[in-house]
Amino acid sequence: MGWQTLDDMELSGRTALVRVDVNVPVEDGRVTDATRIERIVPTVRDLMDKGALPVLIAHFGRPKGKVVPEMSLSVTVPALEAALGVPVRLVTFEEAPEAVGAQKPGEVLLLENIRFQPGEEKNDPVLAAQLAALGDVYVNDAFSAAHRAHASTEALAHLLPACAGRLMEAELKALEAALSAPERPLCAVVGGAKVSTKIDLLKNLVARVDHLVIGGGMANTFLAAQGLEIGTSLAERDMGETAREIMARAEETGCRVHLPVDVVVAERFEAGAPSQTVAAEACPADRMILDAGPETVERLKELFGTCRTLIWNGPLGAFEIAPFDAATVAAARAAAEATGADALVSVAGGGDTVSALHHAGVADDFSYVSTAGGAFLEWMEGKELPGVAALHR
Ligand code: ADP
Ligand code: MG
Repeated sequence: MGWQTLDDMELSGRTALVRVDVNVPVEDGRVTDATRIERIVPTVRDLMDKGALPVLIAHFGRPKGKVVPEMSLSVTVPALEAALGVPVRLVTFEEAPEAVGAQKPGEVLLLENIRFQPGEEKNDPVLAAQLAALGDVYVNDAFSAAHRAHASTEALAHLLPACAGRLMEAELKALEAALSAPERPLCAVVGGAKVSTKIDLLKNLVARVDHLVIGGGMANTFLAAQGLEIGTSLAERDMGETAREIMARAEETGCRVHLPVDVVVAERFEAGAPSQTVAAEACPADRMILDAGPETVERLKELFGTCRTLIWNGPLGAFEIAPFDAATVAAARAAAEATGADALVSVAGGGDTVSALHHAGVADDFSYVSTAGGAFLEWMEGKELPGVAALHR
């Protein structure tokens, strides 16, 4: 582990600077999905129960170091108060020293959008020192911002006693169980649109997993790289060499790569477009591959049955339009079932992957679903996340 949790910290009477991710979607001045806000509640509650005074530090949008009133965190205050059940006071950077001095137990302070400060995205030591002067301890609960070395995620962690918040702790434990010390066999499913956005991820995984399942548009690129006809499919025809390199690397490391054996093809990616299932080597020249076929799904289910750990990023097909969601939904349900039977530890992440799991109705049935986006992908790439590294003591 190497990092501390709230249980290791001296908190009573201390001001705790808590880096959170409340970068929630907003429409017409209202929060439309408060999931990120709800997920920080255990940390803030725990801090208050232990007698600490929480001061939340967060970003919102991309104001690029300038005060942009439309990107004020004020829009999150009602949702934060509802989730936390205590008053939340928004303070500007300039007001913060006085407000922190006057903070009473049971109150939460929220520092205005930290990206209004030009030093934030530059990981500026001066800004970090100004922040550090506001508190006694630093708690990072924003795994989803941990892939960025910013003043409030990286530099600040070195200046105060620092620990992971509950959400960060849960995320790190789940990810460590899945990739650092997994029970084997370990299977990774990588799908989605493009190989080019996931080259580093594929290269890292072939060196670490026992089985690599390739699906989605990315599988088309791999099929084409093996000389198969893929018709009008979405694919990166210039990535053939990369695909072959990844296959060769897998051969060396003993990682078994699973490509679709049958595919669902259609003339167009449209609702109601007539579709057929064909063998992977039999895609007609005027059709596009939009999903993996039922035989591929059967083999995947069998594979899940033999594995102990599963990491999943990227849908197996163009799941937004039925029936091209079939393989993703069936495979997700099989993984969820194996997880429920305690046969499998399943960890999934990625924006579209999380939507696909919700669509399949199994988002709560995986061992862990990461909503961290970019940070999750960088972790799958095997990169050290600066915000996590800075917590190591
Ligand atoms: P994530 O956000 O989980 O990392 P990606 O963004 O890489 O996933 O990929 C998701 C997208 O890939 C979805 O929009 C899906 O429609 C698309 N996709 C998957 N398979 C295909 C396919 N065969 N043809 C076209 N698009 C596909
Ligand atoms: Mg995506």
